Amino acid sequence: MKRRKFLKRSGALTTGLATVPLAAMPLSSQSLPNSLPSGDDPVRPIVICTWDFGNATAKAWEVLANDGNALDAVEQGVMIEEADEDNQTVGMGGRPDRDGRVSLDACIMDAKGNCGAVLAMENIVHPISVARAVMERTPHVMLAGKGAERFGYELGFKKTDLLTKKSKKEWVEWQKTAQYKPVINIENHDTIGMLAIDATGDISGACTTSGMAYKMAGRVGDSPIIGAGLFVDNEVGAATATGVGEEVVRTVGSFLIVELMRQGKSPQEACEEGVRRILKKNDDKADFQIGFIAINKKGDTGSYCIHPGFSYRSYTKEGHRNTPSDSYIKV
Ligand code: ASP
Repeated sequence: MKRRKFLKRSGALTTGLATVPLAAMPLSSQSLPNSLPSGDDPVRPIVICTWDFGNATAKAWEVLANDGNALDAVEQGVMIEEADEDNQTVGMGGRPDRDGRVSLDACIMDAKGNCGAVLAMENIVHPISVARAVMERTPHVMLAGKGAERFGYELGFKKTDLLTKKSKKEWVEWQKTAQYKPVINIENHDTIGMLAIDATGDISGACTTSGMAYKMAGRVGDSPIIGAGLFVDNEVGAATATGVGEEVVRTVGSFLIVELMRQGKSPQEACEEGVRRILKKNDDKADFQIGFIAINKKGDTGSYCIHPGFSYRSYTKEGHRNTPSDSYIKV
């Protein structure tokens, strides 16, 4: 039955708006709990990202400050880190899986709720752009492995060996013990997740990573999974994650945070609850790191993590900052 017909039959539309439950109202007439208090100017444009990736936010800001849209800003922002071979957690130069292959995960989401992702893709420096093309040029949301790579070549991306000398040397060293032990805040997991609101108020997000260092071949974490590593709802806000992806997937972390904001929580409160849900599933023991950042429609931001050491970058008209995140465990 069509939604409108159902509402009519149940009498919801004839009872007058005041008595219609919020959930039954057409979206356009819902007044969201976190809608802007009148007279309170929203902060826009604004871009934030996980960790201290200041070059990336600077690039995104350049796009936003020139009246660019949020989608272009987040794509071009995270591309800076994908191309930086000194960054061993994203794109070119990323640490490989235990077989010595660099495999990349990325996703992107726009203000209309369109999204695209690539999973475990090798040999292409800019997975975020392939993810965007999945969103814009295919009937699909995700492409994985060889299929994603082939699509990338069809788009004109060139085949590139992503394993740098430095990452190869470390991997050879790692093989002596071959122990899979993600170290908290030590650079073996540092995804860039970026969220932006442009001058028109539209929100977009992007997330890109080489995943956990020395993962099993074919392993995919939270970063390219819409709802886990990234989620955008243009009416409410957006969230993105970094850290041990398996734990974020178990709680669909970014979607959860956006939904908590929809229910009235601030970005900060929502990130804190997101971390608490993960801890609950781990009997409050957490020898791993998770960091969330979030932004609401008004441009308020928040972040929370398990262990001290996580931070997030922001760029607004007020300036460019790296903000240390509050953590569940205090030093
Ligand atoms: N979340 C990423 C993953 O699990 C790792 C990271 O944040 O660095 O693949």
